[in-house]
Amino acid sequence: MSTKKIPYSKLKAESPNTASGTYVRIIKMGIKYKVQMFFGIIAIFIAAGFQLWIPILIGDAVEKISEIVSESDDATNRSVTTIGLLLLFASSMRGLFTGLYNYMGESIGQHIGYELRLLYYEKLQRLSFSYHSNIHSGDLITRALLDIEGVSMFVRTAFLRTIFMFFLIGTGTYMVIKADLVLGLISLSFIPFVGWRSIEARLKLRSSWYKLQEKMSILTKIMDENMGGIRVVRSFFSQNYEIRKFDSASKETLYLANDQVDIKSINISMISTSFLISMGLVLWIGGLKVINGSINIGELATFLAFMSILQQPVRMLGMMVNAFARGAASGGRLFSVLDMEAEIQEKKGAINLTKAKGILKFNNVSFGYEGERTLKNISFEAKPGHTIGIVGPPGSGKSTIAHLIPRFYDATSGEITIDGINIKDVQLDSLRHLVSVVEQDSFLFTASIEHNVAYGNPWAEDTDVEIASKNTQMYNYIINLPDKFNTMVGERGVSLSGGQRQRLSIARSILLRPKIIVFDDSTSAVDAATEQKIRIALKEATKNRTSIIISHRLSSLMHADEILFIESGEIQERGNHEYLISKGKKYSELYELQIRPKIN
Ligand code: ADP
Repeated sequence: MSTKKIPYSKLKAESPNTASGTYVRIIKMGIKYKVQMFFGIIAIFIAAGFQLWIPILIGDAVEKISEIVSESDDATNRSVTTIGLLLLFASSMRGLFTGLYNYMGESIGQHIGYELRLLYYEKLQRLSFSYHSNIHSGDLITRALLDIEGVSMFVRTAFLRTIFMFFLIGTGTYMVIKADLVLGLISLSFIPFVGWRSIEARLKLRSSWYKLQEKMSILTKIMDENMGGIRVVRSFFSQNYEIRKFDSASKETLYLANDQVDIKSINISMISTSFLISMGLVLWIGGLKVINGSINIGELATFLAFMSILQQPVRMLGMMVNAFARGAASGGRLFSVLDMEAEIQEKKGAINLTKAKGILKFNNVSFGYEGERTLKNISFEAKPGHTIGIVGPPGSGKSTIAHLIPRFYDATSGEITIDGINIKDVQLDSLRHLVSVVEQDSFLFTASIEHNVAYGNPWAEDTDVEIASKNTQMYNYIINLPDKFNTMVGERGVSLSGGQRQRLSIARSILLRPKIIVFDDSTSAVDAATEQKIRIALKEATKNRTSIIISHRLSSLMHADEILFIESGEIQERGNHEYLISKGKKYSELYELQIRPKIN
């Protein structure tokens, strides 16, 4: 298959979501959690109020202490104790309410993360095959989970905290400037520098973080491919090559992580230095003011305490800018997937076709994946109790025909009908109940054999599961396993042979008793003798059903009522086996090639 995969990160460019639009959507999701929002915002104002009270109390305490030292007054002594207790109370309250608003923010963020994960997963279930086959699945999973975390982190760290910080910095600035303009400006002078440094460092960290994320996703891909192809790796004794490949990708992540450490440490020392310089200036100029009597020692202490208190939220500015930037980028990409319309849509008022007989008709059907015509003017009719065989060289379009019937893709022109009704007018669920495609690549879930067979109908009776496995020649094998039907099938069924996996997936389809059943080269990994047995059993199971057998092996479909020989997406020959042999063209050439040598 020649498909070009789009990296998930490219979605950003296609996203119609602007940053502000993204924030509005995230905020709308957040304000749904009314209780958390209400208590969170109340807690913010209370916590900020107590936090701003602390420097005033410290100033008062220092002032009283200096009075005690100079005057030794008993009454003032009691005030110091009162201030001490008030300080204790203010600090505890500040701690309590800060904890409360952080808790509320975290809770909203976690809920939004949960909501987005579900919405995203649900969307992936609905998006068309054309979408899935055009995008890297590993990328889709890793990056999307990180993006969901990005949005959740934005809510957890920036949502409520932004209100807190603006209130605290704004009110704090007003209070110190009002108290003494010169000293106020000096004590706030570190804010623009620290703000600028933390924002710049955070943005640098963010871009390096994105690169790191990309490298991590490469590491995941290498590991995933290695695990999937472990047999190939071992048989070609390529372990050392694989380790070197992983090591070089892993080193790149180490270098990026080192860069991040450099940015962080340089930044921390610059910020601390600027803060200490401002503090020195406040002490110097403030000290002179105390000496010449324009302010008292308590006021100087208040300025110093305000500086310490404002330092923390200002330092957090960088973190907030990062959370905002990551929130916009992550949210934009996520929403662009969530807003995507599935190509295959169910019409309003679509018909429920559960009771159909299963007369399938292709009327002049053409189809192309990306512009190119893969199928050209295909017409045939398949009735219950009849079998259509489709044969042709690889890439001729056989599987594509199979995928059009349950509407994995829609025909570009012509129409496909069941009992005379266009499948585009049918409810998708009922169509997919009616039609079952047994794929060549038989995927099994990490679950018991029973659950795998009953996947389409978890309420199936045990006897139905047994019958389905008898029909597919798996029963004797299963009951000889230690846990019988409860035996777990390993990741992608590694503990079963290819043929056994194929037989289980056939059992999974026939259990649903679909009216139309399509076997897409589904016995290719089974030896000829087992295939013969399965065919006899299936003849019984598919007796009143419409069946289509796609195979490159003529022995699988020679018995079909009508055989279509496909080449380059067109039906080149059609008819039953005897007729096609008598024509002496492509089908009979294939027969000569495949069957004759074995008979002779
Ligand atoms: P067959 O089953 O006969 O081997 P297919 O129906 O799988 O053939 O493929 C027919 C043609 O369509 C091939 O050229 C193949 O590369 C192309 N094709 C199949 N699936 C896709 C897809 N998802 N996207 C793009 N091209 C595809």
